[in-house]
Amino acid sequence: MNGHQSIQRLNCRSCRAPILLVRTLKDRQMPLDRDPSPDGNVQLLRSTDGARAQVLSTAELAAFQLEQIVKPVDERQPLYLPHFATCPNAAGHRRRDRSSAPPAPRSN
Ligand SMILES: [Zn+2]
Repeated sequence: MNGHQSIQRLNCRSCRAPILLVRTLKDRQMPLDRDPSPDGNVQLLRSTDGARAQVLSTAELAAFQLEQIVKPVDERQPLYLPHFATCPNAAGHRRRDRSSAPPAPRSN
């Protein structure tokens, strides 16, 4: 059997919310909320071994959303939120790390 599924359906150990555990391009495992979110910033990419999660930067996210707007609704790709962004018990997942997120560029 396949012991290395790229997407696992689980429930969060601390808040019991339904989540997806997906491998990122860097081979880490990332918990995502199971339902896509309009505020999401994580794209699921198809890969040879299933799917990979890719966290989009602010610029990538803007470009992605522009692309989606011109697509027919049924071809639009969902975006997901990292579960530690929404988990009420996120402190148990990992410490907040603000240093890795570049400040959003201001257009105005
Ligand atoms: Zn949780």
